[in-house]
Amino acid sequence: MNHAQLTALGRALRVLGEHGEALSADTPDARLHEVKDDLRRALDLLEESVTTAVPSTRCAEHPTGPVDESAPDLCLLCETRRRAARRAEFNGPAPQARPADPAPSRYGVRGDRPQPQQRWLPELWNGQTWQLCGTPRRDRREAELFLAAQRRGPRPAMAYRIVHEFTDYEVLRVWGIPVRVDIEPMGGL
Ligand SMILES: [Zn+2]
Repeated sequence: MNHAQLTALGRALRVLGEHGEALSADTPDARLHEVKDDLRRALDLLEESVTTAVPSTRCAEHPTGPVDESAPDLCLLCETRRRAARRAEFNGPAPQARPADPAPSRYGVRGDRPQPQQRWLPELWNGQTWQLCGTPRRDRREAELFLAAQRRGPRPAMAYRIVHEFTDYEVLRVWGIPVRVDIEPMGGL
């Protein structure tokens, strides 16, 4: 926000405050219309002043980064870092609490899979959860190339990520922003 915007917005908001002070049961409609116009003017000024996107997380470092609903600051990137730190601290695999899979695929979700091994799992965000979108690879580079090809495909998913599967799962990298969307009943009909 520049200085001129700050001045104009401050003035508009103070006018609204005065309207609030003066409001009573006897306030005539003409006055209310005036309030409406002033409110609209203040909103327009705000609209012009705010240039950044609405933050998706409460993280100061990644305000518009990918969201992890279970994280206290909603930040997937920081939560991933914290998980890795916790795992290092306890030196053992973290328990995997997984919700039911709302969108079964022929690959299933990670929780359904057998004992972890050293593999790289390509996953896509299906609007509800991360799901495996290809064969787990023994080679990270191969998995990344596979995802790069998927992203260039005709109907790419909202987001992709690569998960390193060893004694535990760890998100290595996320592309795109996984936003939770509602399941359309009856396929949107
Ligand atoms: Zn963060």
